[in-house]
Amino acid sequence: MTISQRTSLVTAQVADRLGADRVETDPAALVKLSSDWSRMSPILQEKVPSGRYVADAIVRPRTEQEVADVLAMAYEHDVPVVPRGAGTGNYGQATPFTGGIILDLRGLDAIEVLADGDVRAGAGARMTKIDKVAREAGRDLWIFPSTKGSTIGGFIGGGSAGTGTIEHGTTSDGFVTELTVAPMDGSGRLLTVRGEETLPYIHAYGVTGVVTSVVVRTDPARDWVAVYAAFDSWDAMVAVHRRLLDLPVLPRLASGDEPALVPTLTTNVDLDPAQHSLRVIAEASTVAAIESLVVAAGGSVRACLEDYAATDLLSGMSYNHPVYFLQRAHRDRSWFHMETGGELYWTDADRVREVYDGPVWLHLELMGRGPLAMVVAEYVSEEQVLAGIPRFDEIGVGVHSPHQWYVDRNLELVTEVARERDPKGLLNQGKLTDHALVDTRVNIGVR
Ligand SMILES: Cc1cc2nc3c(=O)[nH]c(=O)nc-3n(C[C@H](O)[C@H](O)[C@H](O)COP(=O)(O)OP(=O)(O)OC[C@H]3O[C@@H](n4cnc5c(N)ncnc54)[C@H](O)[C@@H]3O)c2cc1C
Repeated sequence: MTISQRTSLVTAQVADRLGADRVETDPAALVKLSSDWSRMSPILQEKVPSGRYVADAIVRPRTEQEVADVLAMAYEHDVPVVPRGAGTGNYGQATPFTGGIILDLRGLDAIEVLADGDVRAGAGARMTKIDKVAREAGRDLWIFPSTKGSTIGGFIGGGSAGTGTIEHGTTSDGFVTELTVAPMDGSGRLLTVRGEETLPYIHAYGVTGVVTSVVVRTDPARDWVAVYAAFDSWDAMVAVHRRLLDLPVLPRLASGDEPALVPTLTTNVDLDPAQHSLRVIAEASTVAAIESLVVAAGGSVRACLEDYAATDLLSGMSYNHPVYFLQRAHRDRSWFHMETGGELYWTDADRVREVYDGPVWLHLELMGRGPLAMVVAEYVSEEQVLAGIPRFDEIGVGVHSPHQWYVDRNLELVTEVARERDPKGLLNQGKLTDHALVDTRVNIGVR
């Protein structure tokens, strides 16, 4: 029997046990939910374009136990399953390479603030909603991504960093205290892991099990303010950027852009397109110190907005969003980006600009104790993009290619746990491969 035929057996069982409305096979919906935002990469756009790899059915569980039940049915018939949140991942990691079932988890959206202030949420709860509930309870989520409409399950399953990362690191750095997971082992059970044991499920694209609910860390809510500053040069901008780490309360976000990227940003603040733009989500008591730093570097403060919604707008211009804004503004040309990081952005950014021929534009973030940058340039070919990787290595700049779909964090641990939790290898097939063990950054190609 083909995967498609086996999927029909499973969906018939699901319809019978959970209700016919839990299954969808409409062709347009299948194509839509089988792709994600990998279209941001011209390389992935070519290799995993929307419509090339399509699931046979979408299944929509509403409770955590239903997730476990669906996985048990899929296990019995050897049907591949790909968990999916809002589908905003960048790497094609929610695309079902071998058909089967897309598990749409958006129905699991309960949110509860616990007695200690941390938040328990269903995997399908949106980060926007979780943040709102947390703030109403006087708490700040440790981190959330610039795509705030995404789900917590997807952020933990496939995301990494965002607002809050300067102080709290990535999704693997203590943000997650507890996960409930449905394994693909035929048991139909749910298991709960805590602390370090959560690591094999974070940024693992669901290959170690489907996360059904999470507990994430919060802090007492702070008074956050959106500060916009402008500078004549990159050097003046980074002179302030690096000093933000000396503030008594670390900023929640610190994003910078070169003039070429500034006009494409979505903002209600009057940004000067001829100047470098630095945007900081700062704790209110540190604003005066930031203003002094800006003036001392020869810059100017263009706006200081005091309501929380204004800081959200600023989050929406962080991490990969400026790359998307550029692509949206100049659709007549094709753009690619590389995710990079290193002190060179503060000391000699021109050396990074030399990695690629032609104009190279930089979007800057502060991640932990150092700078992170999206390097953006016009796309010519896959060879051109990949040729940059050894050059970044040579100049001591860390690089992660957003043009591949393999699991590339904690790979050995993830592989080991996946063997136990998914012995038949049915979860998100093609994302955990020996290929990735060779070199996760440069190997691109569906096996
Ligand atoms: C313009 C743009 C900007 C972005 N900015 C950021 C950013 O600032 N920081 C960042 O980290 N990411 C960013 N991303 C990537 C992505 O949007 C986020 O990581 C987002 O949180 C993913 O959530 P999602 O619900 O859309 O997940 P999906 O795309 O649906 O899934 C992501 C991965 O997780 C798996 N998965 C989904 N749900 C579960 C589950 N319950 N259990 C196990 N596995 C699961 C999927 O199979 C897939 O492999 C950006 C993307 C875009 C397009």
